[in-house]
Amino acid sequence: MPTALITGVTGQDGSYLAEHLLSLGYTVYGLVRGQANPKRPLIESMLPDVKLVEGDLLDQTSLINVVQQTQPDEVYNLGAISFVPLSWNQAELTAEITGLGVLRLLEAIRLVAGASPSRPQSERTIKFYQASSSEMFGKAREMPQTEQTPFYPRSPYGVAKVYGHHITVNYRESYGIFACSGILFNHESPRRGLEFVTRKISLGAARIKLGKQKELVMGNMDSKRDWGFAGDYVRAMHLMLQQPEPDDYVVSTGEAHSPWEFADLAFKVVGLNAKDHIRIDSQFIRPAEVDYLLGDPSKAREKLGWQPSVTFSELVQMMVESDLQQESKAS
Ligand code: NAP
Repeated sequence: MPTALITGVTGQDGSYLAEHLLSLGYTVYGLVRGQANPKRPLIESMLPDVKLVEGDLLDQTSLINVVQQTQPDEVYNLGAISFVPLSWNQAELTAEITGLGVLRLLEAIRLVAGASPSRPQSERTIKFYQASSSEMFGKAREMPQTEQTPFYPRSPYGVAKVYGHHITVNYRESYGIFACSGILFNHESPRRGLEFVTRKISLGAARIKLGKQKELVMGNMDSKRDWGFAGDYVRAMHLMLQQPEPDDYVVSTGEAHSPWEFADLAFKVVGLNAKDHIRIDSQFIRPAEVDYLLGDPSKAREKLGWQPSVTFSELVQMMVESDLQQESKAS
């Protein structure tokens, strides 16, 4: 049975990917950082079959040791500072983790697997998935965005992801590593971090309905994003590593919606009107905005046979209902 190593296992995608790989019979290792990571007990209780190993994308030696110790067939690099607004406040750390962290992990794979361009495909033992992002398109040069669309990142996060993307392609071409980059558009779920716009809205709608919160204070509600369900997107990650040749793929729904549309649906789920409960505050506006992202998932559909199973309105409903349930239980 194959073995996988996941960085970012304590994050939204990490937990869905671990579940998916376990269901396929994989042995799954998850990288956790820090000496008392508060999310560790959560992952231990939610996914008891995941074997946790210690390491940090900031620490080269720890990554070499972990790859050596776990001997994975597949490595999924989901670890990152992933919240765009934070990347302006901690731009250097974002570059280190989200950007250079990819290089460190690729180096660990290269050293442990002894990758070289002259090795035949069958001997290239460790496959690598990099979590690239639609934020690399930023001020998008064309609509919709494909694997060929030039990058124009608009945040330190987007810039770091562009580095991660290019170094993944470079290690594929330089050392023959089976390395794939998934250019994933926004994907959400009830496990999305509370700081992200969709979860802020779904939780806000639930709490306002239950009388636990008076209003929801938001930033830019007019940008447009291509939102899918995280559970669908992790299937695409795995499929990329099962192809005969490594490649890069856009993963998206092909539909764009604004936070207002998300909020209208979310408040409707709880029988309220979003406009009555949302206040806009300019302190939440980003220094440089990304106005419109829309992905063209044709290549993933045709080559991977991948398609999303959850619609936009189903996603909103799933998130609000989950938050309602959790908030009803909490005091
Ligand atoms: P997330 O929930 O924010 O999870 C990020 C993960 O990275 C956490 O497990 C975090 O661990 C880990 N991490 C942070 N710093 C680290 C370090 N120094 N060393 C090792 N791990 C570290 O993100 P997500 O939504 O699951 O996204 C997964 C990946 O896909 C990220 O790379 C993200 O940038 C990318 N992506 C996400 C989307 C999306 O819409 N969700 C779209 C495109 C690309 P701790 O628990 O220790 O903090």
